[in-house]
Amino acid sequence: APGCRLIDGKAIAAQIRKEVKEQSADLLRETGVQPGLAVVLVGDRTDSSTYVRMKKRAADEVGFHSVDCKFTERVTEQELIECIRSLNADAKVHGILVQLPLPRHINEARVLEEIRVDKDVDGFSAANIGNMCLRGGKPPLAVPCTPAGCVELLQRSNIEVRGKDVVVLGRSNIVGMPVAHLLQSMDATVTVCHSRTVDLPSHVRRADIVIAAIGNAEMVKGDWLKPGCVVIDVGVNSKPSSTDKRGYVLVGDVDFEEAIQKASAITPVPGGVGPMTIAMLLKNTLNLARHSAGLARLP
Ligand code: NDP
Repeated sequence: APGCRLIDGKAIAAQIRKEVKEQSADLLRETGVQPGLAVVLVGDRTDSSTYVRMKKRAADEVGFHSVDCKFTERVTEQELIECIRSLNADAKVHGILVQLPLPRHINEARVLEEIRVDKDVDGFSAANIGNMCLRGGKPPLAVPCTPAGCVELLQRSNIEVRGKDVVVLGRSNIVGMPVAHLLQSMDATVTVCHSRTVDLPSHVRRADIVIAAIGNAEMVKGDWLKPGCVVIDVGVNSKPSSTDKRGYVLVGDVDFEEAIQKASAITPVPGGVGPMTIAMLLKNTLNLARHSAGLARLP
């Protein structure tokens, strides 16, 4: 739409990082607790190594203690489990992150299960997911970072969620499923679509807010969008490009050029949801450190 607003995830994430840095210094001063984040990386996938490097740098910048656990592709499930157990026992570590995916010979669920619930910084454990979904129960200790980042982008951009029709594209454990539950708990009416959904465009056309987390470059077209809708594009896909010197560019799941003609606000890729994921990881680590000191989580 004319005047489509860009939701600047980079700027909003920078603001959150600044807040976390201050709150972390307060915690250290008041309780002697320095938030600690452990990152477990297996193998040498370039995307995983890049994400881990970015997460570690972000943790350093806000003054966290950080622990690095690197393994080759040939690590056994038992060795990883032992690593998690020692991090569980390490009082200086408040958050444990296992960078996914793990190699095929390792049972991912089995390894993640070892993470103590009060150190589950990604919020992927059954207890944290369960508490997130249950109404009127106790709040989860951590909420998955990318979904929390999507919600924070909407809130900090003053976009009303209550009563809105939200369509979530994708139902994965790490993005689609938790973001759908979070938005439902904020009183949106949520539809979840996936690869077996019949006539995706007809669902998207009803949405006031579209959350796209499919992993399919520029699949969502402008004529699928209701005029004035808000688009949160989680997708990160590489697309061959003859003009870029790397030979590819990163694009979202939504056709950006078409979407800005219809939407009232949209997140760019890159620079939208991506930076928020890391900011929320820092926020979760801080909140778990506060929890360990008997303090309530910060909003
Ligand atoms: P998954 O592959 O785990 O899940 C993709 C989901 O999309 C599945 O539910 C799948 O359906 C659905 N889907 C796939 N193809 C179609 C289709 N043609 N039509 C409708 N639904 C479809 O991916 P993730 O959830 O892990 O990630 C999604 C995207 O988000 C990726 O591009 C990823 O790179 C990005 N991402 C970005 C992050 C960030 O920080 N910005 C963090 C995490 C992910 P089904 O369940 O039926 O298979």
